[in-house]
Amino acid sequence: MSDADLRTHSALHVLKGAVQRVLGTEWTASVFVSGERGRLTVQAERKPTGEELRRIEEEANAVMREGAEVLEFEMEREEAEKHFGEAIYDVFPVPKEVSLLRIVRIPDWNVNCCREKHVENTSEIGEIQLEGTRFRNNKQLLEISFRLLNQ
Ligand SMILES: [Zn+2]
Repeated sequence: MSDADLRTHSALHVLKGAVQRVLGTEWTASVFVSGERGRLTVQAERKPTGEELRRIEEEANAVMREGAEVLEFEMEREEAEKHFGEAIYDVFPVPKEVSLLRIVRIPDWNVNCCREKHVENTSEIGEIQLEGTRFRNNKQLLEISFRLLNQ
């Protein structure tokens, strides 16, 4: 994983938290990372307004500017579900036979099971800019594309 990929992937977790807060969405359908560009796809019931997108970008950047710890740890699946609930999961289920989950947590912001590598602090990501959105009404999916801004 390149440095850009690492930062972009980590930015997805920050963005997820911002999208959940602003739009009230819960489920991530997929993520995509290519160098300094990324795309988050979440289940959503409607297209966000321009004002909501502006707030998502602002809230995500505030978490990176302020610098939050990115914690990675392993946890028994049953314990993790008790502790964090379904918030750790995305749309596609973790196979039943997996009993030890790798959890990534930005305290008070986002928690998710994820096996990728992450930055240790959100300040390492820098800043992101939203580049566009696409809402597919028939699938109730919202795609949000972004890129890292070089500092
Ligand atoms: Zn991750």
